[in-house]
Amino acid sequence: MPRSTKSRTKFIFFTGGVVSSLGKGIAAASLGMLLKERGFRVTIMKLDPYINVDPGTMSPFQHGEVYVTDDGAETDLDLGHYERFLDISMGRLNNATTGQIYETVIARERTGDYLGGTVQVIPHITDEIKRRISAVAKSGKGWDIVLAEIGGTVGDIEGQPFLEALRQMGLELGSRNVAYIHLTLVPFIATSGEIKTKPTQHSVKELREIGIQPDVLLCRTQHRLTQELKRKIGMFCSVHHNAVIEAIDVDSIYEVPLNLEKEGLTDIILRRFNLKCSRPDLRIWRETLDRMRKPSHHVKIAVCGKYTVLHDAYKSIMEAFVHAGIENDAGVELKWVDSEKVTDENAGQMLKGVSGLLIPGGFGDRGIEGKISAIRYVREQGIPFFGICLGLHCAVIEFARHVIGLKGADSSEFNPRTRHPVIDLLPEQKKLRKKGGTMRLGAQPCHIQPGSLAYKIYGRELINERHRHRYEFNNLYRERFEEAGMRFGGLSPDHKLVEMIEMPDHPWFIGGQFHPELKSRFTKSHPLFREFVRAALDYQARMSEPDQQVA
Ligand code: GLN
Repeated sequence: MPRSTKSRTKFIFFTGGVVSSLGKGIAAASLGMLLKERGFRVTIMKLDPYINVDPGTMSPFQHGEVYVTDDGAETDLDLGHYERFLDISMGRLNNATTGQIYETVIARERTGDYLGGTVQVIPHITDEIKRRISAVAKSGKGWDIVLAEIGGTVGDIEGQPFLEALRQMGLELGSRNVAYIHLTLVPFIATSGEIKTKPTQHSVKELREIGIQPDVLLCRTQHRLTQELKRKIGMFCSVHHNAVIEAIDVDSIYEVPLNLEKEGLTDIILRRFNLKCSRPDLRIWRETLDRMRKPSHHVKIAVCGKYTVLHDAYKSIMEAFVHAGIENDAGVELKWVDSEKVTDENAGQMLKGVSGLLIPGGFGDRGIEGKISAIRYVREQGIPFFGICLGLHCAVIEFARHVIGLKGADSSEFNPRTRHPVIDLLPEQKKLRKKGGTMRLGAQPCHIQPGSLAYKIYGRELINERHRHRYEFNNLYRERFEEAGMRFGGLSPDHKLVEMIEMPDHPWFIGGQFHPELKSRFTKSHPLFREFVRAALDYQARMSEPDQQVA
C-alpha cells in the first residue's frame, strides 16, 4: 500500500437513500477505480438484502442481468460494473445475499454450533455478515481497501441487519479504518424551480437512527449544487460541506469517476484513513472517454431478444458494444428487435439498415422462431452475425432446418419431443432436479481450432470464457453439420463439447456457447465484440459502394 500509517484493510461502505437506481454500483466502481489508480489494491463487494440465495433463479424482469464470475457464481449485475471499471475479476465472495447468510447460520445451527443458545439476528446474522466482509478483505493476497455496497435504500426492512453489521464494524475497527458514504437524491422541482434537500435530510436521519453517521454524501442531482446548498445539506446532516459531493447526471457512466475525482472524493477518503499517495494517472481513462465521445464512424447493430424493453437484462452486452465501438473509432447504435415480432416474411424489414445481428443468451421457447427467422435472413444476406449461448443454439437450429434440411430440428429445451434435438441437455444435467446454481457455470477452457475465424480473432489456441447453460450442441449431429459447411471453431479441450461455431462461406458468422460480454472492460474491449463491430463496419462500407447501391 503506498505509504500508509498501518497496513490493515480499510473499509468503505456505500448506502443509498431516497430512491433506488441512483447508481450506487457505478459510484462504488468509480471510487474503486480511482483508488486503484492511486496504487492501492482494491476490491468491491455487493451485499444484497433479498432472500434468494443468488439472482440465478430470478427473472431478468425482476433483477436484470445475472452476472457470472470466473468461479461460477451467479451474482448481481453491479459486479459487472466493478469488473469493467477496476479491470479485475471478482468471485463468489464478492456478492452476499440474505439467503446465503441465513443458509450458513441455519446450517451451523443444525450441526450444533450454537448448542444451548437462541439464534438471533443480532448477533448471529450480523456476525455472519461481518465475517463475509472480512473474508473478502483476506481473500487472495489480501486487500488494502474493501468497498462494500448495500443493495436497496435505507429504511428497507430487509436491509436493517446489514446496516447494523456495518455500524458494528465502524465501532470495532474505528474511524481510521471505516468510512461511510451515503448516496442520495437532491431533486429539482420544476414547478418551483428549486433544488430540494429535504429527502436527503430524511434519509440521513434514518441512517443516523440506526447509528451510522455518514462521512460523505454523494448527491445525485440534475443541476450544479452551489456552495450554499452544500453548506445547508452539510449542516442538517452533520457532514462537513467539503464532503457533500455533487454527483451530477452525466451522459456516460464512464464520466462518473472523473467527476468524483474533480469533486475531491478520493482525497477526502484518503485523509480520513490517513493514507498518503501520489495523484492518480487517469490519462488512459480520459483518452478512452474522449475517443468514446467523438467517434469517426457510426454503425447500427440489431439485438434480437425477448427482454428488449428492459435493457438491464443485457447490461454487459450493451457495455461490451460501447467498448468495442471505442476500439473501432465508432459509435455503435443498438436497434432492439423484439424476437416475438419477427417472422420469415418481415425479417428484412425488421432488420433494415442494420449491419450486424446479435442474438443474446436467454431461456425458454418464447420468441425463438423470430430469432431463427432473423438468423436465416442475415445468413442468407451475408450480414455479420454473433450468437451468444442461446444465440448459438438458434443458429444451430436454423442451419439444421434450412441448410441440412432436418425438418422440425429444435432444441429439447423448446420442444422435448423434436425428431432432431440438435441442441440437447448436457449429459450431467439430465439427473439434476435442483434449479439453483446447477447450470454449467463459470470459466471453462476452450480449444480454438487453428485456421478458424475464431483463431484469427483470439490469436491463440486456448481461451477461457464464462458459461451459464444447461443445453449444448448434440454431438450425434456433428458430422452432418461439418459436411454441410459449418465449422466448429472452438471445442472443449477433450473435444466433447462444441463451444464455438462459424460459417466459413459467410463474411462473419460466429456463435459462442459462453458469454464473452462478461469479460469486456472499458479500456480493453473483448476481441469477439471488437471484431464483430469491425465486421459490421466493413459490411456497411461494402453496402455503400456505388455498385451495391445500384444493385
Ligand atoms: N437456455 C439455454 C441453456 O440453458 C441458454 C442459456 C443462455 O443463453 N445463457 O442452455
